[in-house]
Amino acid sequence: MRPPKFGYVRVSSLDEAVKVLEADENAKVLAGGQSLMPMLKLRLIRPSYLVDINQVPNLSYISIEKDVIRFGALVRHHDVEVNGDLWKIYPILPETAIQIADPQVRNLGTMAGSLAHADPAADWPAALIALRARVRVLGPGGEREVPIDDFIKGPFTTDLGRGEVIKEVVVPRINGNVKSSYIKLERKAGDFAVVGVGVVIKLSNDGSIEDASIGVTAAGPKPFRAVDAEKALIGRKPTDDVIMDAAEKAMNMASPISDIRGSADYKKAMVKVITKKAIKSALSR
Ligand SMILES: Cc1cc2nc3c(=O)[nH]c(=O)nc-3n(C[C@H](O)[C@H](O)[C@H](O)COP(=O)(O)OP(=O)(O)OC[C@H]3O[C@@H](n4cnc5c(N)ncnc54)[C@H](O)[C@@H]3O)c2cc1C
Repeated sequence: MRPPKFGYVRVSSLDEAVKVLEADENAKVLAGGQSLMPMLKLRLIRPSYLVDINQVPNLSYISIEKDVIRFGALVRHHDVEVNGDLWKIYPILPETAIQIADPQVRNLGTMAGSLAHADPAADWPAALIALRARVRVLGPGGEREVPIDDFIKGPFTTDLGRGEVIKEVVVPRINGNVKSSYIKLERKAGDFAVVGVGVVIKLSNDGSIEDASIGVTAAGPKPFRAVDAEKALIGRKPTDDVIMDAAEKAMNMASPISDIRGSADYKKAMVKVITKKAIKSALSR
């Protein structure tokens, strides 16, 4: 299908993007276009203007600092996938990137765009919930940081207000024996998740779990933190029984719908299976 008519503005700074977006509430940011263009072609949206940020300089950074890792608004899925340092620090990040769609989509699609789009089956939110990431937003009132848990409000709905853009995604670094993994169940390579689970675990010297953080996608109206599963792990040794208990608790928190990727019951059962796998995968590293 052909998209409806729209205007096009190519901006040279995020401040300029904010001005255009503030002046016209029907204008939309264009990043990788991998969600926006299909929505336009299906005429699900009718923006007045596309505000193209692709020529804004210095937005493609992955900045690995002492306490945080920063991902600029134009970091593509592929940039994360091929970053050797991330494979060492947080394998969950490139492991998530590599499971998104196909190489064409990964070469253009951005992490920030995925969060702004807020598809309930997107992969990044589960990994970023597990990493307790924050979203740095720039708007008419300046900059603010929103915890990822509060950023995604519901299906295709975020905390972004009028005139606001995502400037970067900030992932805190954790000292110590930290392990992480993202496991995605998909019907075929490149498909959206039937269910996806991200896990970050910190082990103490005695081998027990000091901290655990678990994000689940495609199993509810929005990706969620499996708090009950986290509580079931913290302070315990990761035995099979403890892991099974945590996986069951994640399942009990899920509220998926039946769709082309499976029935609600099947997806719920898969939350348990994939949570167990993700915990074991993280611990095996
Ligand atoms: C065939 C196909 C398969 C896919 N499979 C998967 C998959 O398996 N898993 C998965 O997670 N995703 C999948 N996707 C979606 C893909 O990951 C997109 O790249 C991503 O959802 C959107 O990123 P983008 O940069 O392309 O954003 P765009 O399409 O440019 O924008 C998406 C939305 O975000 C807004 N936006 C973008 N950047 C910003 C910003 N910095 N600030 C504020 N708003 C912004 C736009 O205005 C728009 O509303 C798939 C897409 C396709 C086409």
